[in-house]
Amino acid sequence: MDSEKRLKIAIQKSGRLADMSLQLLEKCGIQLSKSRDQLLCRSQNFPLDVFLVRDDDIPAFLATDVCQLGVLGQNVLREKQAVDNGKFVGLVEELPLGYGRCRLSIAVPQGFAYDGLASLQGKTIATSYKGLLGAYLTANNISADIVTMEGAVEVAPRTHLADVICDLVSTGNTLISNGLVETDVILQSEAVLVKNQIADAEIAQLCDKLMSRIKAVQRAAQSRYIMLNSPTDSLAAIKAVLPGSQSPTVMPLQGRDDMVAVHAVCEEGVFWDTMEELKANGANSILVVPIEKMLD
Ligand code: ATP
Ligand code: ZN
Repeated sequence: MDSEKRLKIAIQKSGRLADMSLQLLEKCGIQLSKSRDQLLCRSQNFPLDVFLVRDDDIPAFLATDVCQLGVLGQNVLREKQAVDNGKFVGLVEELPLGYGRCRLSIAVPQGFAYDGLASLQGKTIATSYKGLLGAYLTANNISADIVTMEGAVEVAPRTHLADVICDLVSTGNTLISNGLVETDVILQSEAVLVKNQIADAEIAQLCDKLMSRIKAVQRAAQSRYIMLNSPTDSLAAIKAVLPGSQSPTVMPLQGRDDMVAVHAVCEEGVFWDTMEELKANGANSILVVPIEKMLD
């Protein structure tokens, strides 16, 4: 019998967030059985069950404590909270994940005489985000009719279902190909790790452990290990150029009194400019390598 407590996380089964969310768990060292068509994957090497569901269902999974964690777009969570705050108020955005970036925007057909939000007064707006759009219009004292559509919102003006739309945009190509112009950004969004009010101490501990792994993965992804040889007398200048590094390790080079080896973890991007500046300060044999894991 297995009496061990298990943490439960919901991620998108298929769609824009699915692959990155699964990869994030894998980068945290969590092995999952690969069968994607089932609802539930159990990890063998971490007490974690992964529920593969539609992103729109994740807030309800969290609110009913079927899962304690979820990965979803801020747009989805905030919309649910805008529509039914009582049910979803206990869900907290714990960690932005840096993918699934998009924005919820209002867009008008080319040729629409748009002169600020007041131009939307009395108009019909098609959207799948009536909670967020409604709150935005109210906050700006605009009264407009909201037509709720589940998909293909961008065709609403052409089919005369609505005058303008409010939809998710990332590149803007969909808007352009539908003859629409973005006018107002209501919300900037990315994928986030959302947590419910975990009551159980053991589950809370598992959650902290997973979150610290995710943070470590994120730090490692943006950090680089840099190795170079520096003239001893320009060491101070070289250290000053190293981006976001703490104390570098400085080691003697055999048979050289005038040069030392410098190794450092840089927690910011190391670009060609930086390398060229290091070289200009006398550094040579500059190596920049990715870091797989990092734990302080
Ligand atoms: P599901 O079947 O899970 O309901 P879906 O069709 O609602 O999927 P996707 O299109 O896969 O959702 O988008 C998931 C999330 O990806 C969105 O909620 C949003 O946070 C993010 N996203 C990033 N860029 C875009 C974009 N251009 N359009 C729509 N969503 C985007
Ligand atoms: Zn969805």
